Order: sequence, then structure tokens, then C-alpha cells
Amino acid sequence: MAKISINIATGSLQQAEMIVGIDLGTTNSLVAIIHPETKKPVALKEHGTSSLVPSIVHFDQYGNATVGEEAKQYLETEPQNTIFSAKRLMGKSFNDVKNNAGFFTYKVIDDNTDSLVKVQVGDTFYSPIELSSFILKELKQRAEHILKTPVTKAVITVPAYFNDAQRQATRDAGKLAGLDVLRIVNEPTAASLAYGLGLQMDEEKTIAVYDLGGGTFDVSILRITGGIFEVLSTNGDTYLGGDDFDRLIIQHWLQQNNLSEDLLHNNKQLSQTFRLKAEEAKKYLSSNDEFNSSITSPLTTHHSPIAPYALRLTTKDFNALIQPLIDKTIASCSNALKDAGVNKAEIDTIVMVGGSTRVPAVKNAVSAFFGKPVNDMVNPDEVVALGAAIQADILAGNNKDFLLLDITPLSLGIETMGGLMDVLIPRNSKIPTKVGRQYTTHKDGQGSMRISVFQGERDLVKDNRRLAEFNLTGIPGMPAGMPKVEVSFLINADGILVVTAKELRSGVQQSIEVKPQYGLTDGQVEQMLMDSITHAKDDIKTRALVEARTEGEQILGVTEKFLTKNSSLITHEEMLNTAAAMQALQLALTMEDKNLIQAKTEELNEITRPFAERVMDAAISTAMKGQKILE
Ligand code: ADP
Ligand code: MG
Repeated sequence: MAKISINIATGSLQQAEMIVGIDLGTTNSLVAIIHPETKKPVALKEHGTSSLVPSIVHFDQYGNATVGEEAKQYLETEPQNTIFSAKRLMGKSFNDVKNNAGFFTYKVIDDNTDSLVKVQVGDTFYSPIELSSFILKELKQRAEHILKTPVTKAVITVPAYFNDAQRQATRDAGKLAGLDVLRIVNEPTAASLAYGLGLQMDEEKTIAVYDLGGGTFDVSILRITGGIFEVLSTNGDTYLGGDDFDRLIIQHWLQQNNLSEDLLHNNKQLSQTFRLKAEEAKKYLSSNDEFNSSITSPLTTHHSPIAPYALRLTTKDFNALIQPLIDKTIASCSNALKDAGVNKAEIDTIVMVGGSTRVPAVKNAVSAFFGKPVNDMVNPDEVVALGAAIQADILAGNNKDFLLLDITPLSLGIETMGGLMDVLIPRNSKIPTKVGRQYTTHKDGQGSMRISVFQGERDLVKDNRRLAEFNLTGIPGMPAGMPKVEVSFLINADGILVVTAKELRSGVQQSIEVKPQYGLTDGQVEQMLMDSITHAKDDIKTRALVEARTEGEQILGVTEKFLTKNSSLITHEEMLNTAAAMQALQLALTMEDKNLIQAKTEELNEITRPFAERVMDAAISTAMKGQKILE
């Protein structure tokens, strides 16, 4: 393995080394690099193929995963084990996505809680992080194959609206794929970089980035000053994109041929054919006026086959079909401007991103709205990855004209249940910075909370460096989960970290100061980074196991508490079933099998879910009788 050294002051890698830029998209993903000779960003592709890898993972009956074009073939025929749009699930709980549950044709586990979602394929549970890591692994392998050198470092892009949890999930996916994620960059920022915006230090600009992909749309208003990108506002629709164009075309063709939608419901193979044809037509119409094709009908009458379905579409008809969707995106642009407090005339540049901006009607509408031509010179489905490659090159220290702000060389966080590291300030964060997060107690009446501060990249705190520890005492007695303890990390410009813990209901607070870099050599930082990569797989496995256990223990506790208080509300049979499920979970908890624990947790959940409703009903009827409800 190549030796790297890290400059503590800048966090940049000293040695020229290939760092790749990755656009991990909802529909398509790709890798780009700065070409060592031309110094220009290029998307990597094997000779004669596309640079785009569909973000789809297919599992065969043995659980073997394939990614990309090959997996896309199974989208309609094997919906239960062909996972698309995993990005939409990153950092989300089931409660976050339940309103769109119908969108997913595979099994998203409904545990009706706020813990992170899982996807079930056969008997195996996958987290969105694992699913994304399959895609990243594929990209890494492709890059290694093309570049003929190991690729271990990357910059990965995420939508500007991604929150902390979604960004952390993306980092974890990178780590699981064997990549050291040097930085998470906003997609609109990357796209702007690819247009050379923000590379001049004295530049001040306001930019609109319009991104219409396969399934999502967003528009961001950015302000660049002195090389710093600030997202003023974002707006959009996470369920609007080119796939909707395809669906409208299919409906149009069904009508043309007097066919009902049931035909496609009942014939997945035909549905897949229609889908591919619709996308082909749409792309063709981006540079032609009329599309003509046909599909052989699978139906036969007696012995003579039915005539093939004629698939005709003119640009004019297509534009009319998608006009309402285009109008929606324009309304979002208007809202984004309003939220940013910027008017149209103040927008210096409009950057077009996403494959669907190739549609001329889309380009025209955006340009008409802003009242100036749009920037579409850079390939819209590669532009984000190209910008990520530019950012990677800056981090590698190759782009000496670009000043790097001070950043933290290692992540900083605290210990949570099960000895897990919860990162508050990820490595490579700009300083000064401040981050806060809320925690709670796990025992009834818990009066104090230990805050242990750690530094490092490993998932278990025992493998990281302990910086400091203190007890927040004087928390008033409350049931578990009630106190709200806000822990904030503040690093000032001198690199001093101030950790504060405050119980918000009572106001008790305590804080401590540490110098994270004190007594830490470059060599030690380097070692800690390398360790996190070599142990990534085990670490993430352990984290998943610990999380599953914590969740399992929690539901066991809650169920036990429930049974002692409300035994009158459940039948004898239910009691026996619950006891059996609890026993099975208890046994599973003693084993090192995450999937088993999750399956048993889910089973217990299934059984006890109706109980909660009954308690509510009982509480309501008691309340109506005018009695006091005692906890
Ligand atoms: P994402 O950011 O969601 O991963 P992309 O930026 O790769 O998505 O965009 C994918 C979408 O772009 C798909 O719906 C695809 O059909 C569409 N697309 C690609 N090329 C064209 C084209 N020439 N004309 C119209 N749509 C296109
Ligand atoms: Mg995209």
C-alpha cells in the first residue's frame, strides 16, 4: 500500500496520488479524475461503453450482487430483488419514507419506528448504506481496472438538501466499499466547479443550479465569495424526473393502441420493453422531431398473431405531455429565488445538471424563466462527477493556486450505547465550526450522563483516541428517553475544541475544553486513517450488529414494561405468542448474527404492534369516564 502523509495544518495529502471524484446518483453513478497529462477532468469509461453505471443492485437466488446495466435488465421482471433508488433511503427511517412506500417495488421493512430503514431480499436484510456500498465498490473496481492502479480515496457528492444523517450514511457507504472519503461535496457546488466557477479567489457570483435527473429534481441558489460556496436555498421535488417522462410516453402509446394499463401489470416482460422503448424515444427526440418504432404483441388470436404495437411520438406531442412537469420545476425555481432573497436579475449564471436537461423544451423553459441563456456546454450527466474530480485534485494538493481552508484531520465524536462512536465533526471539516446533536437517557430516573469525547475514524470508540470525559450531573428524574441532552462541539480558529452538554428541560449544563491535536504526530494520524480503511468492513459489521442489538434490547425492555402494566388488555394466546417471540429474540441477542436479531426483532414488533393501539383506545375510554390516568 502506498504511504501517505497528512499535513495537519491543511489536512491535505502531501504526495501526488490519484483521488477520484464520484457522483453517487439516484439513477446513475460515475467516477471522474483529473487526467494526469491534460490536467482536465474526464469521466472514466471502458472503451466503447458509457461512463454511466445505473445505480441498481440485483441479487440472485444465492445473494450474489450485480450492479449497473446488467442489474437494470431485471427491474421489471424481478422487482423483489432488484434494488433501485437506494439513495432515497440513505439516512432515513421507515416513518420518513412511508408516504412513498408504494414507490418501492422491493421490500422496505415497516418497523413503524424512527430507526434506520432496511431492505429485505430473501432472508437477508440490507441497510441503504450496504446497498450504496455495492455501487461504490463497482465504481472503484471499474476505476482500478481502467487506471491500472489501486483507488482508495474519493470525494463523493450528495444533494445540497442532504442532512447530517444522510451525509454520514454516504461516508459509511464509501468506507464499506474500501474508500477513504476525503470530502462530501454538494452536487450543485461540484457542478459549478466543473464550469470553472469559484476557482478565482476574487470572484463573487450568484448561481442557479437546475438539476433534473431520473427520479428527482432540485434547484439550488449558490453564492460564491472568495472560493467559498454557500447554499442560499434549495427547492425541488424528490419524486419528479425523467422516469416520469417515460411513464407519460408509455401511457400515450397505450392510448394510441387502445390498450389498458392492466396489460403491462400482467406482463412484466412487456412492461420492461415498453419502458426501454419510451426512454429510447425520449432520448431520440432530444435531437430529432419524430420517433417511430414498434413492439411485437405477445397476444395471439387463434393462430394468427396480432399486429405489432405502433410506437409513434413527435417532439410536439412529447412536449405537450411533459409541459405540466416542466411548469412544476419552474415554480420551484421561483420559490428557490424567494427563499434565497435573490431576484432573477441577480443570477449571474445558470448551470444545467442531470440527463433530463438534455430535453430541449426543458432548457428553453429554464432559459425563458431566468431571461438569459443557460450553461449546458459540459455533459449534464457527467458534470457533477467532473466537479468532484476537481475538488479531489485540490485536496490532493495538485492545484496549488487554490487555497485550502484549515480543516480537522480526524473525526471528533462521543461514545453512544454499545461503545459506538457517534461523529459530530467529520474529518476534513472546515474550522471554525460548531455542531450540536440531541441525546437522551436509556434508564428511568437516570440522573447523570457520561460524555466521553473521542477522535478517530473507527466505528467503536475502543479503537479511537480518547480525548476527554466528563459527567453531566443533576439531570432531574424522568422516564428513559425523556431528558433532552444537547451535546455541542465547537472548534475555534485555533483548533481548540469546546464540548458542552446541556439538559434542555432543566437547563443543567457542563463543558470542557480540549486540544485535539495535542501530542499527536503526523505519523499517528496517518496510522489512524489507514487502520480505519483496513478495518472498515469489520467495523461497519460490528456497528450494524451493535445497533441491531441495541434496538432488540430496547423493544424487549418496552415489551416487558408493557406486559407488567397492561396484561389485562391482551389475551392468553397473545401472551404466549409474545413470550415465545421475546424468548427467541433474547436467544438471538446472544449470537453474532445481525440478520437473525433483526428478523426476531421484527417478529416481536409484528406481534406487539396492535397492543399499542389497544392501550390508546383503553386510555381514551378511561379518560372519557372522567378518571385520572395514572402512568
Ligand atoms: P440521477 O442524477 O438521478 O442519477 P441522471 O442525471 O443520470 O440521473 O439522469 C438520468 C435521466 O436522464 C434518465 O431519466 C434518462 O432517461 C435521462 N436522459 C439521459 N439522456 C437523455 C436525453 N438525451 N434526453 C432526455 N433524457 C435523457
Ligand atoms: Mg444527479
